[in-house]
Amino acid sequence: MTPWFDYPPQQWQQKHAIVLGAGIAGCQISWHLAALGWRVTVLESQSMISSQASGNLAGIISPLMSAKPSPTERFYLEAFAYTTKHLEQLIATGANIEWFDCGVLQLMHSERDKQRWRTLQSRNLNPELIECLDRQQASKVSGLNCDYPANYFPSAGFINPESWCKALIKAAACEVITGCKVSSMSYTDNDFWSIYDSAGDIITSAEVVVLSNGKNLNQFTQSGELHLSAVSGQTTTASTNPFSAHLKCAINHEGYITPSYQEKHVFGATFNREFEKICLDRRSDQQNLKQLADHIPELAESFETIESSHVSVRSASPDRLPYTGGLPDIGFYNKHYASLKDGNRNRRYPEAQYLTGLFTLGGLGSRGLTSSALCAKALSELIDNQPSTESLSLLKDLHPSRFLVRQLKRG
Ligand SMILES: Cc1cc2nc3c(=O)[nH]c(=O)nc-3n(C[C@H](O)[C@H](O)[C@H](O)COP(=O)(O)OP(=O)(O)OC[C@H]3O[C@@H](n4cnc5c(N)ncnc54)[C@H](O)[C@@H]3O)c2cc1C
Repeated sequence: MTPWFDYPPQQWQQKHAIVLGAGIAGCQISWHLAALGWRVTVLESQSMISSQASGNLAGIISPLMSAKPSPTERFYLEAFAYTTKHLEQLIATGANIEWFDCGVLQLMHSERDKQRWRTLQSRNLNPELIECLDRQQASKVSGLNCDYPANYFPSAGFINPESWCKALIKAAACEVITGCKVSSMSYTDNDFWSIYDSAGDIITSAEVVVLSNGKNLNQFTQSGELHLSAVSGQTTTASTNPFSAHLKCAINHEGYITPSYQEKHVFGATFNREFEKICLDRRSDQQNLKQLADHIPELAESFETIESSHVSVRSASPDRLPYTGGLPDIGFYNKHYASLKDGNRNRRYPEAQYLTGLFTLGGLGSRGLTSSALCAKALSELIDNQPSTESLSLLKDLHPSRFLVRQLKRG
């Protein structure tokens, strides 16, 4: 029905992949490929892994619920269930991951939120997933006075992404080359991808390459058509004090705050679409404090001093869902699917063609900690030629060509 989203099976001579970028996307795909018997080489431009968007001291892992069931809600529910189970399994094997399933309380502060809260309440959802609490119940669960009703996700929580990335890389036993900035790549006669540095020297080669290089995802000729928007974000910390120590779970309002972690609370984050450079600034900390004061005033007032924590860029696709899959042969799409604009859906179209061996996992936006593991599972199964029915359906929704196909349909 949708040949433009189908994937032909591919033959590999060696199961060796190069993963470009060692944030949570790169570390997840490395682990998932290694679990299927692949050898993985990770190339990271920075001197350490997990230092860019995935370099926050603590981020939230939680489902995203809309008032009524929606494809986005379904995606994040599946991703949340998979991620938390995967974390449990990794930790059970001794992985040193700083994951705290302390629960997440989502304050319903606006009129629209309150309407959503009422609709969610009427859906009678599983209380192990979500409980719709009134103000008193929310105050009891959080340990602090809450001025709003709230949705509570008891199995959600917060994580230190660096510990997670390190544990994934260690468990995958893959080679990691840091301080290695990739400038270009080319497909060679012997069906391999060669990867080059800025001097034009070859770094390494393999038959499969996965682009998981965050905000630079579309830096290459082969990936230049991927639409991405960039929003910078800064988090702030404040030392734990006797009052703030009562906070028992993470709280989402317009931003978020964690319970005490490493003797501090992490809160924020800012959303800045018009940034010139990516650097920590005091104004962003003041914005984070004000946002906290607007929603949980007693907590904000209890902080004597605040400190800048981390700043980076979130990159998102236009529909805020990740890109997961093979990179298309744009010429083939433009030639063979151009007549989609005539609305002739009954015509027989050929199966899609791709840049052999080139895949991507990116555009994770502001929820990559929740979504990356499920995307990596589906992508690794695709690369390994054994996608499950669920993964195939997910790969259609997250197809890197979905905006190109929409454009072709519109002519
Ligand atoms: C302030 C802030 C708060 C956030 N809070 C949350 C949260 O609470 N919950 C949540 O789910 N998500 C949160 N997010 C979003 C989440 O952090 C991102 O979705 C996720 O980290 C993206 O991971 P990534 O691997 O795609 O990108 P990155 O972590 O940026 O990794 C990409 C890597 O590629 C490397 N790279 C780039 N170009 C090259 C190149 N040419 N050669 C070699 N290497 C290259 C980079 O150095 C980088 O290490 C937050 C983001 C920010 C900025």
